[in-house]
Amino acid sequence: MVQRDATLPREILDSATKLLVDLCSVSSASSDASGVRAVAERMAAELRRCGLAAEILDETDGAGTILPMLVASGPAAGEHPLVLVGHLDTVLDAVSPRIEEGRLLATGALDMKGGLAMLVGALDLLSQRGEKPPQDLVLVCVPDEEAGGVVSERAVRRWTEGARALLVIEPGEARCDGETLVGGRRGLFEWTLEVTGRAAHSGLGYWKGRSALAAAADWAAQAERMSETGPGVTVNVARLVAGDADFVNGLALHHVLLGTSRRRNIVSDRAVAEGEARFLTAADGLRILGRLQRLAENTAAAHDVRMTFAQGMHVPPVDPHGPGAAIVDRVAKLAAQRGWRLEVEEDRGGISFPNYVADPAKLAIVDGLGPVGDGMHTREEYLDLHSFERRIVLFADVLASLAPSA
Ligand SMILES: [Zn+2]
Repeated sequence: MVQRDATLPREILDSATKLLVDLCSVSSASSDASGVRAVAERMAAELRRCGLAAEILDETDGAGTILPMLVASGPAAGEHPLVLVGHLDTVLDAVSPRIEEGRLLATGALDMKGGLAMLVGALDLLSQRGEKPPQDLVLVCVPDEEAGGVVSERAVRRWTEGARALLVIEPGEARCDGETLVGGRRGLFEWTLEVTGRAAHSGLGYWKGRSALAAAADWAAQAERMSETGPGVTVNVARLVAGDADFVNGLALHHVLLGTSRRRNIVSDRAVAEGEARFLTAADGLRILGRLQRLAENTAAAHDVRMTFAQGMHVPPVDPHGPGAAIVDRVAKLAAQRGWRLEVEEDRGGISFPNYVADPAKLAIVDGLGPVGDGMHTREEYLDLHSFERRIVLFADVLASLAPSA
């Protein structure tokens, strides 16, 4: 394999670094609409300079607040664009950025102003090489990824409808011998289990009772044991409330019973458990759903109680072996050609941009394309400037390889 030069022309690195420091100097916590707008405006100006048509749209979040969203498109962005997604907001407000030992210590340097400045650097590098980015590119930068995410979710859903691929410029992770890219992300569904047993006096009629609590606890223990290490499914029982029906139904009022002797003599006739299951493929999601339903049927029969298991809110997973695998593979190869190691994370937890796509099983999705560092969402947040430099080169290579005809 031919190793190409991974270094960046000095002037491009300098101007990208300056842009990054400028972006980090602007305080843009999610709640700070004017700060977020200032970041959007600075980015819009840079992207126009790079030949994209950039505009700032007003979006309304769940509370009715108007927030800025940046959309920048190439000249041929049609119905099947190459969509890039990032966010303008940070968790904390800004403190003065400083550079120390190859690191930029600044709020949002890693998450994810580094990714925004990387994109501009990559576009500059392509232009210097006399190459063009994919002409059907559309960049969408949202204002509320770190907060409610209402605008983020809506925007990702809308802009990825018909998209040919989705590239997320959120950061990868540092590894001892390289960096990562995110190829897969878990999905989840929430569930609720309701159990009705039969109340009885535990002194006078213990054997006549049917404990909803015992049945729910039995179900919960078996459900958690269905969790598999590695890429398998996990089941989390987050809450289990049980007792006599009056206690459970009026919990806010009756919590004062806890720690007292009152009603300890009642065999529990009501239990409610709530939790979620997480999984990496749609097939795994269906498999665990079926197992939990069957477990409810069997446990109900064994305890002679009534059990209702219901699936709630559902977030689809990004399958690491789905339609994005070919691009993920290509990006890792491009890094290798530049002489560094890019590892693929197939099992990233947490819910993020890719989970907002209407059907991630039908779209090529690559996440974690941004430069790495550490201390996300803390005052110790930093971006590794060496990673910043090589990710600019990599991202230029990635864009060049994703021209519509390529
Ligand atoms: Zn982020």
